[in-house]
Amino acid sequence: MLDIENCKIKNYPSDILARPAETVGEINDDIRLLVKKMTDVMVERNGIGLAASQVGIPLRLFIISLDTTARDVKVYINPKISMAGQLDTAEEGCLSIPGLCSNIKRYKKCSVTATDLDGNEFTQQAEGLLARCLQHENDHIEGVTIANRITQVARIINRKLFKKLELKHQAEQ
Ligand SMILES: [Zn+2]
Repeated sequence: MLDIENCKIKNYPSDILARPAETVGEINDDIRLLVKKMTDVMVERNGIGLAASQVGIPLRLFIISLDTTARDVKVYINPKISMAGQLDTAEEGCLSIPGLCSNIKRYKKCSVTATDLDGNEFTQQAEGLLARCLQHENDHIEGVTIANRITQVARIINRKLFKKLELKHQAEQ
């Protein structure tokens, strides 16, 4: 039984953001409730993507809605992603690292095979913002965040922000 009602955003440097997530087994009411809760959290914060580990549930599942609406949320369960094409650099933020906005290199294209909430497997080809978002969310599933991917220079520029988030995290323990 997952404690879904108490789910809330986990911020850097929470341990759960740095650990690979576990495979989703049966797609049951818990999983459906989790997706509903994640959708509420993401829409409230104007996010375009959210991984389950970001709300404290270490499962291989994320949602994406490029227009930030609940209506367009797409659910990716146990996704397998493969990247293609050239690298591209663009600014990214993350709901778990409030205040950080930094250039991140991603592949321009990717393809993802995942299971939806009805238990059906699907494959999607993506490019542009969707490809970037899929790679960002898939990183969360592997325990990687943009804090791991920013350049050394960006790390120095944002050192006060990271320090502030670390102190806040310590205070909440
Ligand atoms: Zn993120």
